Amino acid sequence: MVNDIQKKIIIIGGGLIGELLHIMLKSKGFEINHFAKVSKIKNRTFALSPSCIDWLRSLGFPSLFFESLSEIKSMKIFDSSIKNSVTLNAEDAQNPALAYMVNEKNFNEAIKKTLNNEKNFKKLSNDFEIKKEQEQAILKLHNEEHKASIIIACDGANSMVREKISINSLKHDFKQTALSFELKVKSEIQKQAVQFFLKDSILAVLPIRKGLVSIVWSCDNQFFEKLNNLDDKSIENKLNLVIGNYYKDIKIASQKESFPLFMNSVESIFKDRVLLIGDAAHFIHPMAGQGLNLGIRDIISLEKNIDKKDYMDIGLRGFLRKYERTRKEDVSQIGFLTLGLNWIFSKKSSIVIGVIAKGMGLLDKSKFIKQQLIKKAIS
Ligand SMILES: Cc1cc2nc3c(=O)[nH]c(=O)nc-3n(C[C@H](O)[C@H](O)[C@H](O)COP(=O)(O)OP(=O)(O)OC[C@H]3O[C@@H](n4cnc5c(N)ncnc54)[C@H](O)[C@@H]3O)c2cc1C
Repeated sequence: MVNDIQKKIIIIGGGLIGELLHIMLKSKGFEINHFAKVSKIKNRTFALSPSCIDWLRSLGFPSLFFESLSEIKSMKIFDSSIKNSVTLNAEDAQNPALAYMVNEKNFNEAIKKTLNNEKNFKKLSNDFEIKKEQEQAILKLHNEEHKASIIIACDGANSMVREKISINSLKHDFKQTALSFELKVKSEIQKQAVQFFLKDSILAVLPIRKGLVSIVWSCDNQFFEKLNNLDDKSIENKLNLVIGNYYKDIKIASQKESFPLFMNSVESIFKDRVLLIGDAAHFIHPMAGQGLNLGIRDIISLEKNIDKKDYMDIGLRGFLRKYERTRKEDVSQIGFLTLGLNWIFSKKSSIVIGVIAKGMGLLDKSKFIKQQLIKKAIS
């Protein structure tokens, strides 16, 4: 028999992962006490994998949301010479798309509808405490206490909860900053993402719709400083030097946002009755467009473990260890991939550059390896 405390879950953090987790747990019959900081809704665009999109369908997202998605059917990756490239096609793996572009505002609208407009998040100031008693976790505020079987923290890369419960994390600073904005373009290229591994930056061009692309430009900090001091016209000129052969009449069409880039690996994703999910548990370089996908796969895994019904109390160490094991491989694979790619492509020696060029040529001819890469990308 499930007791009252076992039905209660506290969520901290109201980003996309916190909200999706709320919907999933509510659908399983849990009572959710959700604490979040009010943050401005941004207008970012994310590439989500087909299996994450399928899961959103199973969550009961409205059809309007799926109509708003745009497909990425192929991806072309260039080395710094912009001469050698590898192309991954969804068709090669008999899939309709490699990924789907999702606008953050549409995402938030769909979340609101799925929650029947009942968001009811409580505000949380930074001076909270977390305590544990044998069968419950306690969130202690100024003059009140909230009890639950588990506290799930989805409070992002600089997680305050992680700090308060003293879970150590290892930070790798890429010494890069990502500049992100939308760009109006004229181009024959449709439904294709293009990524350039340049000497001092990685430039990703992601299709939003005909005539509009999203730019994520991950720059070495020195290069970023120079770029950041330029006006839009000068940035467009710099972009033209790289993408001018593929996109014409380019014009910056949104605010520019910047994000310092680092990678966080935590020593453990849970402690006592507190679990970390999303960027709080793993923060990676955005080059592979996988951060949100990883967070969604955290929730999918948690759902599968809950559905097994092995544990009535999901705050128990046994349940959390099982869940942790199901996430280990995926999270470390993506971490190594982004770390490795960044390392390889940041090498400036002519020998390494030659090896990369040769390697890309071989990779482009190997249908099997490309199929394996696509399999990982769409999972
Ligand atoms: C430039 C860029 C491009 C990206 N593109 C992609 C992509 O194409 N595909 C993809 O899969 N991923 C992408 N990502 C990664 C993706 O943005 C993140 O992985 C994802 O947004 C993480 O969501 P989250 O909810 O875990 O964390 P966050 O979005 O950081 O949300 C954390 C929330 O917790 C709140 N919070 C913080 N502290 C507290 C507190 N003390 N109390 C209460 N609330 C608190 C914050 O206000 C926030 O609302 C990209 C990232 C960058 C930087």
